[in-house]
Amino acid sequence: MSTQHDFTARNALVTGGATGIGKGCAAFLLSTGASVTIAGPEQPAIDAAIAELRGASNPDVHIDGVLCDVTDEEQVRAAVVQAARGANLDIVVSNAGTGYPAPILSLDAEGWLIPFRVNVMGTAFCIKHAAPIMRENGGGAVVAISTIEALRAPLFMAPYPVSKAGVDALVRCAARELAPFSIRVNGIRPGYIDTDSARAAFSDEMVQNCLDSTWIRRAGQPRDIAQAVGFLVSDHAEWVTGEMLNVDGGFGIHDGENFEYTARMVAGDAAVDDAKGRS
Ligand code: NDP
Repeated sequence: MSTQHDFTARNALVTGGATGIGKGCAAFLLSTGASVTIAGPEQPAIDAAIAELRGASNPDVHIDGVLCDVTDEEQVRAAVVQAARGANLDIVVSNAGTGYPAPILSLDAEGWLIPFRVNVMGTAFCIKHAAPIMRENGGGAVVAISTIEALRAPLFMAPYPVSKAGVDALVRCAARELAPFSIRVNGIRPGYIDTDSARAAFSDEMVQNCLDSTWIRRAGQPRDIAQAVGFLVSDHAEWVTGEMLNVDGGFGIHDGENFEYTARMVAGDAAVDDAKGRS
């Protein structure tokens, strides 16, 4: 993976970094020269990801892993300390996430709390423990992975967008509180990204529905999110904070009315046919 960023000597923590989008972010950050710690709840998955990432990178990369359930504050604190490597923690990608599919009328407290604990509290704990280290070392950048569904109304999946909308609000609030310390906090709302988890959760029909509404007509890949993370944590984004960036091929934008009828009257058939790719 090629990149124009040079994050040599920067330390990064990626939660949920052993799989999917998180692993893609870890691979991208490694390709920039960053030292990367991936945090996850399963040691075999962490070990497999580290072996894969080492195999795909140059031999000098610094990657390690830490067993960390992001709902456990002490484990997050320890992961942050490990990722800082006795120096600064420059980059945090709070990517660990989960949903809870069920009709609202059947949900008990636990159904609401499972995604809230991972998505919102997991991100809050990362920020809480990373920020003091970043502050002491002159600053840093946090990117939280939300979802485009935070802006929509998915059916039978309410706790997921509700909690991710909480992540969006947390990004804004943390960005305001931490700006005085040169710590930037932003987020990304991915559209459909082709990961093992997404494939397991989506039927073929659901995937097709997503693609039909995606202007750039392909599924997203983890590298699409990783590249946006790269921008947000880079100096190119030094005046960007509190923002949510939709990375979704256009999926999240409401299609407006189709004015083909009127355009044919004003611009003519040839212009409209040309714009539609017809000769
Ligand atoms: P994955 O399931 O591969 O990624 C989620 C990661 O979070 C996994 O590595 C998982 O570990 C980890 N995780 C879950 N619970 C915890 C926890 N308590 N503590 C630490 N880690 C935990 O799916 P994706 O890569 O597709 O998703 C990554 C992120 O992107 C999520 O936040 C998701 O909501 C978001 N997203 C994904 C989209 C998609 O289409 N793929 C679209 C929009 C947003 P384990 O597997 O071991 O449980």
